[in-house]
Amino acid sequence: MIPRTSPICQSDDKPLAQSSRPETHWQTAIANAIREPVALLKYLNLPESLLDGAIAANHSFALRAPLGYCQRIEKGNPDDPLLRQILPVNEELQTSEDFVFDPVADLAAMQVPGLLHKYSGRVLLITTPACGVHCRYCFRRHYPYQEKRSEQNWQEAIDYIRDNSEIHEVILSGGDPLSLTEARLKNLSDKLMDIPHVVTLRIHTRQPIVLPERINNEFLSWLDSLPWKVVMVLHCNHANEIDSSVAMALNKLQHHQVTLLNQSVLLAGVNDNAEALINLSHKLFKHHVLPYYLHMLDKVQGARHFYVDRNKAIHLLNEVRQNLPGYLVPKLVQENAGEKSKTAIT
Ligand SMILES: *Cc1c(COP(=O)(O)O)cnc(C)c1O
Ligand code: SF4
Repeated sequence: MIPRTSPICQSDDKPLAQSSRPETHWQTAIANAIREPVALLKYLNLPESLLDGAIAANHSFALRAPLGYCQRIEKGNPDDPLLRQILPVNEELQTSEDFVFDPVADLAAMQVPGLLHKYSGRVLLITTPACGVHCRYCFRRHYPYQEKRSEQNWQEAIDYIRDNSEIHEVILSGGDPLSLTEARLKNLSDKLMDIPHVVTLRIHTRQPIVLPERINNEFLSWLDSLPWKVVMVLHCNHANEIDSSVAMALNKLQHHQVTLLNQSVLLAGVNDNAEALINLSHKLFKHHVLPYYLHMLDKVQGARHFYVDRNKAIHLLNEVRQNLPGYLVPKLVQENAGEKSKTAIT
């Protein structure tokens, strides 16, 4: 296999210092995240037989899991649906021709550094490479994040948006945009604020799910300061990911007038059964979130063991549809390089 280095650098998430100031809680939580396979196995009472694979796969894409997330994992259960999303395993080292480095051709769609304009009316900004958690199936696991994106590069992205009046929605993505401090978020939103054709700000984030302490007062104040309609697309794959701390964060977001949607990835051994998908939709709705997309796995190298094939996916969605009101059924979609929107499967 081709040697890889972890795409995730850590520029934005270094804690200032161990501090009890509330605004740095989340940074401390990132700093204290489990990063050593041996520590994760020990914390969860998992068999040592998993260690060699975990260490091998960890070299190409490093383990990172906040303690709060690990607490939601059943101890002693190697098949736990949350564990599967974070534990590096041997299967990641298998290569196959149809699982590639850049499956959605993001690099080809990059107009200026950090800006993807694939679809009409909206652009996606890669704001930071950092994430609160490292998901083993991530399609950006090989992304060349090490390219430094300076403030000056943001300026290029801002200029691009200003010059294209058909862009009405700016999507903050990453990595995870909520890895940025409020100071940096404000810096970005200030730059966008004088562009009259931007009316919606969308934030794609997994942070409220994996690091709910991120939804603190400073963040909520930043939200309140924005002149746009704000949509947050969360990334939650399993009902067990929503515990009381996540519920509290979602509740706060709802009270600050954020439209809450969720996207999941259909993942073998995590949520590839109708019961898991139905439970997820119910739990999301209980906490003010509507399901938006259920993504077919992007065929990224190292993620083959998560793949659910198209026939099974369609069959699953039919079963889900028979058991839920229409508004709780996510759209099953696939991202195909070069197409003008995500492709609906069913
Ligand atoms: C998914 C995606 C979007 C958003 O698409 P919607 O269908 O509006 O959710 C925008 N830009 C890029 C590059 C994307 O991958
Ligand atoms: S949070 Fe999103 S971008 Fe980050 S590793 Fe997980 S799937 Fe990838």
